[in-house]
Amino acid sequence: MEIKTIGFWGAYPEKGEATSCYLVKKNNFHLVIDLGSGALSRLQHYIDIKDINAVVLSHFHNDHIADVGAFQYACLVQQQLKQLPGKIPIYASTDNPRPFEKLNHQATEARAFDERKKQQIGPFYLSFLETKHPKPCYAMRIECGDDVVVYTADTSYFKELVEFSKDADLLIAETSFYRGMDGSKAGHMTSDDVAKLAQKANVNEVWLTHLPHFGEHDQLLNEVSEGYDGPIQLAKEGLTWRS
Ligand SMILES: [Zn+2]
Ligand SMILES: [Zn+2]
Repeated sequence: MEIKTIGFWGAYPEKGEATSCYLVKKNNFHLVIDLGSGALSRLQHYIDIKDINAVVLSHFHNDHIADVGAFQYACLVQQQLKQLPGKIPIYASTDNPRPFEKLNHQATEARAFDERKKQQIGPFYLSFLETKHPKPCYAMRIECGDDVVVYTADTSYFKELVEFSKDADLLIAETSFYRGMDGSKAGHMTSDDVAKLAQKANVNEVWLTHLPHFGEHDQLLNEVSEGYDGPIQLAKEGLTWRS
């Protein structure tokens, strides 16, 4: 199993980059997690659109879904060029029925995931946990054989996230704020929250993502390292974990 960062900014992309998007791969199956602003352009440095098998969305905030419409047009063009035989499934929660319905298109199909069940998508098994965020949002635990990757999506810290992330090989943790700031009202984590989560969950490695447009990101690294013993990296485009 392989997972690659495509977009890592919170809120909006800085020039030439993207907000939340990850490409997960096993053999010839390619799953895209979130399709933030700028993601479709950056994705094509790593994969042809026609080779994407499925998309899963954590929630309907713009920095996670901005490029869904562009993706639907891209799939439609690929269909017309006879490169894409069917519709591409886009998995999301039905908590927000209107944006969920919009995932149905000539070239894409809305599919609901149920947070009470494990969802098989190709070779991956995904579990979901609703997070603490202003809109319904779901963290994902992605399992493939013995490999486990957890993506927090957008959330403030809450204790159930520790059990959900337990013993993951990789934790991709949103780190929107620095030490001393209060992320809880906005539904985001600070560096100290991420350190606590990673340490308590005993994960093997952490990526800091959904990064803020202020301060020095190296400070986030330093702050997390004071509370978590394992390896830590700042997410950036192309950063890849392989089992
Ligand atoms: Zn959000
Ligand atoms: Zn976000």
